[in-house]
Amino acid sequence: MLSFSTPVAKLNRIGKATAARLKKMGITAVADLIWHLPSYHEDLSRIVPINQVKVNEKVTIKARVELIANRRSKIKKMNLTEGLVSDDTGSIKVIWFNQPFLTKQIKVGDELYLSGKVDDEYYTLQLTNPLWEKVKSDTIHTARIVPIYPATSGLTQKQLRFLIKQILPLVREMDDYLPNQIKYQFKLMHLSDALFNIHWPDNLTKLSEAKRRLKFDELFGLQIVQAKSKVDLKSQRAPRIPFLESATKKLVNSLPFKLTDDQRKAAWEILQDLDKNIPMNRLLQGDVGSGKTVVAAIACLNCALNNFQAVLLAPTEILAFQHWQTLNKTLADFNVPISLFTRSHRLTTISDKKLTKKELLRQIKEGEIKIIIGTHALLQEDVFFNNLALIVIDEQHRFGVEQRKQLKDKTPNLLPHFLSMTATPIPRTLALTIYGDLDISLIKQKPPGRKEIITRLITPDKRKKAYNFIREKIKQGQQAFVICPLIEESDKLGVKAATSEWEQLQKKVFPEFKIGLLHGKMKAKDKQEVMVKFKNKEIDILVATAVVEVGVDIPDATIMVIEGAHRFGLAQLHQFRGRVGRSDKQSYCFLLTDQFDSKTISRLKAMEKTNDGLKLAEFDLNIRGMGDLYGVRQSGTPNFKIASFEDLDIIKQARQAAQQIINESPDLSLYPLLKKYFDDKIKAVHLE
Ligand code: ADP
Ligand code: MG
Repeated sequence: MLSFSTPVAKLNRIGKATAARLKKMGITAVADLIWHLPSYHEDLSRIVPINQVKVNEKVTIKARVELIANRRSKIKKMNLTEGLVSDDTGSIKVIWFNQPFLTKQIKVGDELYLSGKVDDEYYTLQLTNPLWEKVKSDTIHTARIVPIYPATSGLTQKQLRFLIKQILPLVREMDDYLPNQIKYQFKLMHLSDALFNIHWPDNLTKLSEAKRRLKFDELFGLQIVQAKSKVDLKSQRAPRIPFLESATKKLVNSLPFKLTDDQRKAAWEILQDLDKNIPMNRLLQGDVGSGKTVVAAIACLNCALNNFQAVLLAPTEILAFQHWQTLNKTLADFNVPISLFTRSHRLTTISDKKLTKKELLRQIKEGEIKIIIGTHALLQEDVFFNNLALIVIDEQHRFGVEQRKQLKDKTPNLLPHFLSMTATPIPRTLALTIYGDLDISLIKQKPPGRKEIITRLITPDKRKKAYNFIREKIKQGQQAFVICPLIEESDKLGVKAATSEWEQLQKKVFPEFKIGLLHGKMKAKDKQEVMVKFKNKEIDILVATAVVEVGVDIPDATIMVIEGAHRFGLAQLHQFRGRVGRSDKQSYCFLLTDQFDSKTISRLKAMEKTNDGLKLAEFDLNIRGMGDLYGVRQSGTPNFKIASFEDLDIIKQARQAAQQIINESPDLSLYPLLKKYFDDKIKAVHLE
């Protein structure tokens, strides 16, 4: 008897070789085969009378074989099988290449379905290499909507269809884990209907209903997992960090600027979370330059003054160093021991010497240091904390359950609170899906007085003019960035591209100015030296690779030049642009490109039109699709088989459904089938 767990090797007509090929695609049991979903379908269901077929169309005809014979072509030394077939309306020539065995399988007088492309050979129509099948009520490869499966070499569509067709009756007995009430509410097919129709659709409507159901399942699954992990987190305990009102006020009043309302609100949401003994899991989302760092500083201060430890992690050493400087300045009045701990830095505010790694690790372990700044790599180090209570991660989009566990092992106490900060603009529905387990704080406003960054597309003929413009601005004491893209695959870090641009600018274009170079191959110390010089205005123009993409804050820089702008996604261009416009001076962004196709131009024009990161993200989503949406790829999003983040309507429905279910039964005990389904899934993930 066949069951879902039967090994595929036991199926009819599967030999060792086929079983091995299936295994390569992850298919070992019958259930895997059932879940091997078609990548698309071909509608071969319409039968066309022979006198109506047209050149270059793909058609299916139903015809009788009049003639069939093999012959060897003289010119190309190929085996040709030629036939003539006819229906009531006419006849047409058929030709197959290199399949001489066909004359054994097809005989004169056979009734066949033939599906294939119509060619025009010397003024006569001909079907070339058509799929064929003898006429019967239940066809597999022709005269119906036919599934096309993802396959590896060695496995044919015919084989896959044959195999899957064999086991499909099993699907009829399948239980549906989705509660009836949800199916009813969202008008979803039964699971077994959906699986049946995704493989062998009765018609196109059923096919699209089947797709909708299966997409729903994936998106629903993701959201259940997230909703559940949110609930699970609530049952864990974190150190309570009481809100220190007067210290917080003192900090806010000492700032050289007034906090925006959104910054206040975000800080307040965070401080309230910290003041509970439930672990915070919050995303602080705010466009580039919206001032997230100071909000993080407020949280770190409350943590430190309550005698707990906080870590602040940045994606690069440059940024970690910048945060170190900012926090030193911002928290100067509070005497809080802070440390910068990266591959090349071991600094503390307690002494001005560079410490040994051992000594610094000791100070952290014994709780002498309260705020530790580092890169994301810090978590992999042998760091042990005394009483870590807050983790702030800058510009990383996701912090998994695994990393949380890792940290729990590094501190003897409760689970730390967690704050993630990102400038990646993601449309709200998507954010709620991808970050469904996080609470979100938004900083929408920019600090007052910031001007729109004037953005211009620069074609090669206007380059000179742009350089003259930059020259004038630099003479007035302003500064510029020049970003170089990766051009050659071999130049992974863009070192070559940036270096030659730097030479060109220094020697030929701006010999009168001081030009700096920054790329990922440089030693951290050298990178930092360049950044400090740029900040101190000892460098006028900084030529850089994408390393400056996130976070770098040089308020006096007002000009951003992006070479090969067409090579970047809009969200990434927007990130670069966000490096300027950080003061009340008018800033400019020049997008250089030598590509003039309409798609490129319309994308880059969108940058000219708006400074709104979210609008750009939506625009990019429409033209380039989700895969390119910057940041989403790095968010550790699951690999969907059939759903995608473009299915916004289904996302919304799945989210609503998941919330209903979790509200009603957080541990899913009211829905045993659903519970089993997720338990099995989780088990499978752990076994892998
Ligand atoms: P991001 O959100 O991109 O990390 P930063 O925290 O680096 O932004 O802040 C960008 C710049 O804006 C910094 O120079 C910071 O000092 C300044 N800033 C932050 N908040 C305000 C504010 N409310 N008013 C004026 N300037 C501010
Ligand atoms: Mg930042």
